[in-house]
Amino acid sequence: MSERLVLLGSKGGPAVRPGGPWPSSSLLEIGGRVIVVDCGLGVTRAFTDAGVSLKALDLVFITHLHSDHVLELGPLLHTAWTAGLATPVAVYGPPGTGRHWQHFCQAMEFDIEIRIVDEGRPDIRELVSVEEFDEGLVLEDGRLKVTALRVDHPPVTDCFALRFEHSGRSLVFSADTAFFPPLAEFARGADILVHEAMLEKGVERLVARTGNGARLREHLFASHSLAEEAGRIAGDAGVKRLVLNHLIPADDPAIGEADWTAAVRKTWAGDLTIARDGLVVGLGGAKAASGEETA
Ligand SMILES: [Zn+2]
Ligand SMILES: [Zn+2]
Repeated sequence: MSERLVLLGSKGGPAVRPGGPWPSSSLLEIGGRVIVVDCGLGVTRAFTDAGVSLKALDLVFITHLHSDHVLELGPLLHTAWTAGLATPVAVYGPPGTGRHWQHFCQAMEFDIEIRIVDEGRPDIRELVSVEEFDEGLVLEDGRLKVTALRVDHPPVTDCFALRFEHSGRSLVFSADTAFFPPLAEFARGADILVHEAMLEKGVERLVARTGNGARLREHLFASHSLAEEAGRIAGDAGVKRLVLNHLIPADDPAIGEADWTAAVRKTWAGDLTIARDGLVVGLGGAKAASGEETA
């Protein structure tokens, strides 16, 4: 099995537009584990387009319960089930994730019951387990270790960066966060830091286009990081590669990869990847797999 990170959905926020990128989700294949981090809209389609069987789904992590990170959790699991999933899937998420899953199963009760009887499928409610986590150790399973750090994403309080370690390799997801210096310690020495980012001039254009511009600007600057700030965290942490993800804005035709690169280069001189949907990043901080783009 390949060892890779695939950025399934790379935009920040829940809106989708024709031909544009999709909300937040990532696939991490490490040490034979098939891991999905966040389940924004489009995760199921992007997961299968990445060439992975839904039956191989193994672990799911949710960083926080904003819809652009959790909207397609139930549909991903349910579709994996109808595709023949026969092995347990463990979902790890913040408090409220269990309730979210239970309510999804209730909403789908008719279909779930009928498929168990009619198609002889195992009960999805028994195949899927949900663990709610807090800061600290989330999972230690063989050589895979996952830890969480509460980050700064007001008004959401249960939003967690995640660090994955396996056989000496390490990868950190910032989740959604304003500039948060403790993240540098949490990401110390990681091979890859996937950090959320927004572009100041793009945000101004976004604000100008929207009705409640002032309120939107206030939210964005209080709850998210500028590309320059993501670069600062990467530098302080001494990571091998920075991946800018959860891009805001992600679908402004006037904003291109060169704009992101110019912003982050003010604070980060190391290996850099600007996310786009379906982009593959090899693990180990090394130059990698097909489709990878560096700048
Ligand atoms: Zn988000
Ligand atoms: Zn969020």
